[in-house]
Amino acid sequence: MNRIHLLSPRLANQIAAGEVVERPASVVKELLENSIDSGANKIDIEVEQGGVKLMRLRDNGGGIAKDDLPLALSRHATSKIIELEDLEAVNTLGFRGEALASISSVSRLTLTSRPPEENNAWQVQTEGREMSAVVAPAAHPEGTTVEVRDLFFNTPARRKFLKTEKTEFKHLEEVVKRQALGRFDVGFQLRHNGKVIHQLRQADSEIERERRIASVCGSAFVDNAMKVDMEAAASGLRLWGWIGMPTFSRSQADLQYFFVNGRIIRDKVVSHAVRQAYQDVLYHGRHPAYVLYLELDPALVDVNVHPTKHEVRFRESRLVHDFLFRTIHRVIADARPEEQVESMQTPTGALHSPAGSVPQPEQATMMNFEQGRMPLSQSPRPSGSGIREQIGGYAALHPDSTSAAAAVEPVAAAAVNMPSSPNVMPEAQAEECPPLGYAVAQLHGIYILAQNAQGMVVVDMHAAHERIVYERMKSAYETEVVRSQPLLVPLSMAVSQREADCADEQRETFKRLGFEIARMGEETLVIRQVPVALAKGNVEQLIRDVLADMLVHGMSKRIEHHINEILATMACHGAVRANRQLTQPEMNALLRDMETTERSGQCNHGRPTWAQLSMADLDKLFMRGQ
Ligand code: ADP
Ligand code: MG
Repeated sequence: MNRIHLLSPRLANQIAAGEVVERPASVVKELLENSIDSGANKIDIEVEQGGVKLMRLRDNGGGIAKDDLPLALSRHATSKIIELEDLEAVNTLGFRGEALASISSVSRLTLTSRPPEENNAWQVQTEGREMSAVVAPAAHPEGTTVEVRDLFFNTPARRKFLKTEKTEFKHLEEVVKRQALGRFDVGFQLRHNGKVIHQLRQADSEIERERRIASVCGSAFVDNAMKVDMEAAASGLRLWGWIGMPTFSRSQADLQYFFVNGRIIRDKVVSHAVRQAYQDVLYHGRHPAYVLYLELDPALVDVNVHPTKHEVRFRESRLVHDFLFRTIHRVIADARPEEQVESMQTPTGALHSPAGSVPQPEQATMMNFEQGRMPLSQSPRPSGSGIREQIGGYAALHPDSTSAAAAVEPVAAAAVNMPSSPNVMPEAQAEECPPLGYAVAQLHGIYILAQNAQGMVVVDMHAAHERIVYERMKSAYETEVVRSQPLLVPLSMAVSQREADCADEQRETFKRLGFEIARMGEETLVIRQVPVALAKGNVEQLIRDVLADMLVHGMSKRIEHHINEILATMACHGAVRANRQLTQPEMNALLRDMETTERSGQCNHGRPTWAQLSMADLDKLFMRGQ
């Protein structure tokens, strides 16, 4: 055995670097955070060979005084916190005081800086095992430049893990994108091997912010996104940002950005809440896209959970979960055809909203509904025969729907002379025509063709009706007491003590959902009564899953989810099938119902239910007026 000795500063820093400096991207992340913390509003990033050869960040922030320069490169040195209490309310991205020391120990780092109040700039580097700082005069404008060359030149084991230049640059670019989404008030430029890859100017207005989102996430996302902005005064939580339409789902969870007080994070509570909010409207196995910002009192979130600060811990995770779920759920539910159709107007707003529309200024203002449809073959559309008896006339099924008679109403109203420019329509006419217009014809027993003020609407009648029936069944289910039935033989279940305690605590929740659960001992539960809809299911497994959810997330949507699944299946079978001829009043009644139904933009499987082709689109198609 060797005697115990202190590690040299460089070695200690290299060990610390193991946690935070994994690849060039992690260096850029730390340096960007430092520049932002310094108050910069312009950051230029220059990279060579994926960052392995060179990363240089220049900012116009507050800089570092000459005497502080050596400290900036030493470990456990920070200007951001002084006492432990400060950590609880930290509003800077950094606070650990080890990034520069770590990076400097595994690369050739120079830091050059000039605070605005000083005339001269100074530069610092570290040397040797002791990492002693060498300060020299330099030329530099106000702000700071950090140059990192030859990453891992002295740690070959780390270097071996680096991937190709292209891959490393992709990671690095992603870091810059995230930071650019996190701070609209900062301009970014990213260059790779001399070429400008991103040029993002400061974005102060809503339009500029959306432009930045489009250049980072693609314009398709912005075109298919709904705006979120919700504040819960009581808890001081605010959630704002953009969420993708359910029909703009992705095969990967690669377009999901979530910021907590400006810091990008990955968090189970968050992703669970979002997934749940989308669960009902997303095509199976698809992932939602979102860029969301949660703002809350810094004291309610612990940011010192992980060295790379990618994770946080919410002190009130149930509250946060609930707030996220409810806000996103609401926005998805509120996306109605009228807002979507309206959003397609020119910004001049020549067309006014239809009479009687609920003004919801903040929500869903940027959807463009020329959706990419899923392949038709994926839709479960059994050719229906004998369906007629099952559903009868559409209107007969829905006595509460806009009456068929009213809906017959002037198909001609919409058919009146289309103005030469679709965007300039007399107000009176615009008000007469409902958002989805009036049915003109049915195509092949599958689609309804309608004419609205903007042009033409195509509706997948089965998909649309399925959603309407489903939403109706759900609200009936919610408003009525859940019907439950006693089990012939009560079901006894062995559980852990924690699970049993949880079942005890949540007895009321279970009861509301139609379950009667009693505790029979430390580790035994007895189920006496279950919801009628679930009587034939695997009740024991469901209860186990629900308890597991409740223990992890403090709550569970599983029961409702199962009930919803069953309702969805029933709705699918109850909805009008293809190949059924609908009369004009029936078709119009369906359109009116769609306008008032929550989530009517997607069927229960997450496929779009309708699409709009504007007159301008049609003109383009026929090269009219070009
Ligand atoms: P931390 O960010 O956790 O404080 P770092 O090692 O990243 O630790 O940075 C150490 C200190 O150096 C910071 O606290 C800050 O005072 C200073 N610093 C680093 N980068 C910059 C910069 N770009 N502009 C101004 N000050 C900086
Ligand atoms: Mg830092």
